[in-house]
Amino acid sequence: MGKILVTGGAGFIGSHTVVELQNDGREVVVLDNLSNSSEKSLERVEAITGKKVPFYKADILDRDALEDIFSKEDIDAVIHFAGLKAVGESVAKPWEYYENNIAGTLTLVDVMRKHGCKNIIFSSSATVYGNPAFIPITEECPKGVCTNPYGWTKSMLEQILSDIQKADNEWNVILLRYFNPIGAHKSGTMGENPNGIPNNLMPFITQVAVGKRDHLNVFGNDYDTPDGTGVRDYIHVVDLAIGHVKALNKIEENAGLKIYNLGTGHGYSVLDIVKNFEEATGVKVPYEIAPRRPGDIATCYADASLAKKELGWEAKYGIKEMCEDSWRWQKNNPNGY
Ligand code: NAD
Ligand code: UDP
Repeated sequence: MGKILVTGGAGFIGSHTVVELQNDGREVVVLDNLSNSSEKSLERVEAITGKKVPFYKADILDRDALEDIFSKEDIDAVIHFAGLKAVGESVAKPWEYYENNIAGTLTLVDVMRKHGCKNIIFSSSATVYGNPAFIPITEECPKGVCTNPYGWTKSMLEQILSDIQKADNEWNVILLRYFNPIGAHKSGTMGENPNGIPNNLMPFITQVAVGKRDHLNVFGNDYDTPDGTGVRDYIHVVDLAIGHVKALNKIEENAGLKIYNLGTGHGYSVLDIVKNFEEATGVKVPYEIAPRRPGDIATCYADASLAKKELGWEAKYGIKEMCEDSWRWQKNNPNGY
């Protein structure tokens, strides 16, 4: 296979995936508009892998820029991370989310097919299950009603890419439904770098731990869960990154259309995470119980056995390492990149 184009490759999951792809001997090209990331993440990748990361600062909505990249580089597959991902912002700015995520992907896919590149791995999310019909969630679980435009962009893009593959079976489309990525590269030089107040649990906890925020608000303790707080399937970002390397191997077997959950199969509550974080790092995380956050569900964790069976992939890091690694990154880089 020729080169792999990683859209959104300067971002959290993308940058970790570039490390694993280069370590696996793949030739990678990164495209990112840096709207939610820093080019410094790619310098850190280069320091870890000892390889250059060819980078194009470009937008997936910019057809000419995409044409230029596909003309210059011999790209055989795209791992498509680029997208806006803030749930709350998507409620306030639906047009921007549909434009960026959906129109951007349609443009990307059109340029891909014009250049005979019909292999794509897409970053989807467990959010497409809505309030899941059953737990643990298998890929057979019906898709549900999303509670925000961000979730709908994932659900709609899954449909769009599936229809494209069905109409032209030269396409190989792998939809990866991520559960909750946390953790950071072991080096402590790469990690999640949210803008402003973090929306997600782990970056909020690490910012409390490093003293940037006073306390964690626990969104609801009256859910139907063992301790009343929300239960999620947290997965180490390096495990998630390796899942993409395995998915690429599957693409090379002419996968057709495939859907995989990438999770660990274990559910942890918010208070479990606080406790594990404190134990793993020795740092206290003060918290207060706050009202439920609109749109949140009680419980969400994966049955990840299909990815094990068909990709030979399984998460290997546990919650302790996820906490330790998130903390190492935050402590070494209190202000991010
Ligand atoms: P991230 O924001 O760190 O990475 C996304 C990258 O895409 C950023 O670097 C951003 O600058 C870039 N980007 C956005 N719009 C672009 C555009 N129009 N053109 C070019 N680049 C653009 O987010 P992440 O956490 O690494 O997520 C990667 C993907 O995985 C996203 O599609 C996200 O929706 C999806 N996902 C993330 C999670 C999560 O919890 N982090 C869970 C499920 C799915
Ligand atoms: N959560 C919380 N306080 C925060 C952020 C998140 O209690 O500041 C809870 C949230 O209600 C959910 C879990 O932590 O039960 C994971 O939330 P996150 O936003 O990280 O991921 P989600 O599963 O919502 O995509």
